[in-house]
This record gives sequence, C-alpha cells and structure tokens, in this order.
Amino acid sequence: CGIVGYVGKSDDQKALDVVMEGLARLEYRGYDSAGVALVSGDEVEVRKRSGKLANLIAEIEAHPMDASRTAIGHTRWATHGGPTDENAHPHRGGTDGKFALIHNGIIENFHSLKNELLADGIEFASETDTEVVAQLLAREFDGDLTESMRRVVQRLEGAFTLLAVHADQPGVVVGARRNSPLVVGLGEGENFLGSDVAAFIGHTRQAMEMEQDQIATITPDEVKVINFDGSPAEGKRFEVTWDAAA
Ligand code: GLU
Repeated sequence: CGIVGYVGKSDDQKALDVVMEGLARLEYRGYDSAGVALVSGDEVEVRKRSGKLANLIAEIEAHPMDASRTAIGHTRWATHGGPTDENAHPHRGGTDGKFALIHNGIIENFHSLKNELLADGIEFASETDTEVVAQLLAREFDGDLTESMRRVVQRLEGAFTLLAVHADQPGVVVGARRNSPLVVGLGEGENFLGSDVAAFIGHTRQAMEMEQDQIATITPDEVKVINFDGSPAEGKRFEVTWDAAA
C-alpha cells in the first residue's frame, strides 16, 4: 500500500533511516503490516512484521540490520493472504537469499502463474499474489535486474507498483508500474522511489512522475526510465511545492 526505495553512497544506517521515515510518512494510507529489505554484502536482509510500524521497529531493534546503501520498504494492505508476518512484504524469491521484492496492487493472474511455478517445484513461503512475482523474477534473474523485471512484467495482469533489489547489483533499485503510482525522487548522489512524494519529501523536492507501463532503474547518480517494450522513456519532472514540514 505504501512503497519506499532508496539508494545512496554512504555505507551507514542512512538507507534504513530514509526508508523507515518514508514508511512513517506514508502511514496515512493505512496498512496492516510493514517490512524492509537491505542489500548487505552478498545477501539481502529482510525484516517484516504484521501490525503497526512500532512492531517492525521493535523487530529491527531485536535483530539489528547491517549498514547498507540500498533499501526498500513497504506497508501492506492485505488483499491476498491474511495480515500475517509471513504475508508481509518484502518477499524473497528463490533460495539463495539474494533477492527481495515489494508490491502495491493486485496480480489478477497470479493463480495460473503460481500453478506453473509449483509444477516447477518452487516452494512458497506466503499466500500472497506478490510472492508469485518474486519467485518468477528470482527464477528469471540473469544478472540484469531491469531486463529481468521487463520480461516478468509482460506476464502480469492487474495493477502493480513493484520494487526489487538483488545482492548481485548492490547499488540498484528497480521499480515498475502499471495501473498503480510510482514517483522518483531526484537527489544529489542519492535517488528515491515512492508510491507518492510523501515517501521522500524529507530529502528532496525534485521528483519525476512515472507513466503507465514504465520501469525506472535508480543508482546513486542515475535514473534510467524505459517502457515495458524496452524503448527509452522520460518521466515528467516536477517540483513538490506543498509544505511537508509536519
Ligand atoms: N496484493 C498484495 C498483498 O496482498 C499487495 C497489497 C498492497 O497493495 O499492499 O500482499
């Protein structure tokens, strides 16, 4: 329901702090669980909890996370699968612990995709429509997260904003959208993704609205946008003018 992504250059707690702050600012949307993923060395760490953000904060205090430059965070409004810890996002795909994905929206054809993956011997850890995308993307990953995402979104029906990170591409967050919003926040030596500008308004007012059926790949110094057909694209740039000091 609420989505935040961050990539920067300083290897400290900033990525986690930015994402947690973004989730707090997105609270107004309502949610039943929350989670974060950080790229850490050759793996992706995940913490997630049902209930209020305070539960996630307590979980991270109990099990501290490594420093990182790359993070994603999610507040969930359950549509497929109850509001449990297992169904909270981020979802992992595969078995190597290198990947995580978050999702706003509904994957209408998740059932047939799930049957295909089950027939392939893939085991699921949740009841969500989202994990189907995570498993597909982990299976599809070939070293290029953007292109892997592009192949996977061709197979999806419904509404989605998706953000993914992979430990093999540590300074990258990839976001895709169809029928669900995604905004890029443009920083200096850092960039952001959010389901709305509230996700990053504490850090930058320079933003770029993603259009329908587009993928954004952000690194600390670059934002690249393509259409689902692979052609290069540009989002609409704008400056956030409303006062978000509160
Ligand atoms: N359909 C997904 C789920 O139930 C995402 C819900 C959301 O937008 O938060 O997990």
